[in-house]
Amino acid sequence: MDCLFCRMVAGDVPATVVHETDRTLAFRDINPQAPTHVLVIPKAHHPTVATLASDDPDLLGAVIRAARQVAVQEGLATEDGVEPGYRLVTNTGPAAGQTVHHVHLHLLGGRDLGWPPG
Ligand code: 5GP
Ligand code: ZN
Repeated sequence: MDCLFCRMVAGDVPATVVHETDRTLAFRDINPQAPTHVLVIPKAHHPTVATLASDDPDLLGAVIRAARQVAVQEGLATEDGVEPGYRLVTNTGPAAGQTVHHVHLHLLGGRDLGWPPG
């Protein structure tokens, strides 16, 4: 399968990895939109967060738990708190701007993120 993020998991495309478990990988976005912009993915290929939730909800939980660990590493949360905070974004489909069809959580933080998003 010609999937960029599967190739990163395989080690065929370089990535700045910040966190890894047996089932998840987290690496810095090549085009960061905030001081911290990390992509958190399952190593297994699933196209969207919706299909992941249906096909392997335990793995979706693992991805979110990995994102929390990255947030702590990046100083965006503490083990027992949510200060200063961060945002998880999962684009699904063209209207939302999904360009890579291997589910990924954008973990954004390090600045005032504003609401609503653009
Ligand atoms: P999407 O648009 O699908 O929600 O997010 C895809 C993300 O992947 C974008 O933020 C884009 O900057 C990032 N991206 C695309 N190609 C690469 C790459 O080769 N390396 C890394 N680290 N990020 C990438
Ligand atoms: Zn993939």
